[in-house]
Amino acid sequence: MKNPKVQVDRVTKIYTGNKKNAQVLALDTTNLTIMPNEFITILGPSGCGKSTLLRIVGGLEEQTTGHVYLDGEETFGPSSNRGMVFQAYSLFPWLTVEENIEFGLKTNEMTAAQRKELVHNYIDLVQLKGFEKHYPRQLSGGMQQRVAIARALANDPEILLLDEPFGALDNQTRTLMQELLLEIWEKSNKTILFITHDVEESIFLANRVIVMTSRPGRIKADIPIDLEHPRPYSIKIDPRFLAYKEQLTELIREESLKAMMEVK
Ligand code: ADP
Ligand code: MG
Repeated sequence: MKNPKVQVDRVTKIYTGNKKNAQVLALDTTNLTIMPNEFITILGPSGCGKSTLLRIVGGLEEQTTGHVYLDGEETFGPSSNRGMVFQAYSLFPWLTVEENIEFGLKTNEMTAAQRKELVHNYIDLVQLKGFEKHYPRQLSGGMQQRVAIARALANDPEILLLDEPFGALDNQTRTLMQELLLEIWEKSNKTILFITHDVEESIFLANRVIVMTSRPGRIKADIPIDLEHPRPYSIKIDPRFLAYKEQLTELIREESLKAMMEVK
């Protein structure tokens, strides 16, 4: 039995505002175990604490109580073995594609020529050859997110954390990006934690879908996705896929309704 890559152990997060009573219980006693090389998606309605959970796993946010372990060791703060990709606006607008990817590489471990080669390998991988000297504003949203993914991958993190990275893209581009990310995952031995509120996306990508409850966020269901790899896009009309879709849509519907009632 292999050891877990990531363990979230009874993590609770309370945000405290300035005003009295402005406390938000964003995550409540959340446990999650991720094995090496798993591709996990976290599915939940808006505001349920998905980003909070991801930022805590990434070390960008501190939990109020509980622990996060990487390879069995408790972790505090960010480190280069976890790469993060956000929904948008994470590139430096004043740097070109290749400079954005090169930025943050562990520079002391490589010669300039090695760095250049590495950057170009990742540009190839995300299919951006020919755009090395472009600035983010000269690229479409999908291309910008490919740069963000290449930048995260270039540091060769063992764990990739993605927070609704395709959320701002049109459907066509989103589909292509999903296929590309799956291809990258199939070729590498990365462990991926991917957040989405899109049911289809959560099934198409994952080995396991974790459904979260609406606020406070907790794990509501943990559903293994028993579909083969490589996964062609056409799997989205496979009866097994549609059965998962029905099951997950129902779970997420319950949570969205609960959240709506709360607001009223
Ligand atoms: P999701 O990503 O699922 O939409 P978030 O993790 O962003 O949810 O937020 C969970 C809850 O915590 C929400 O109610 C949100 O308003 C609140 N929240 C998130 N970040 C902060 C913050 N920095 N300060 C106060 N409240 C926050
Ligand atoms: Mg979020």
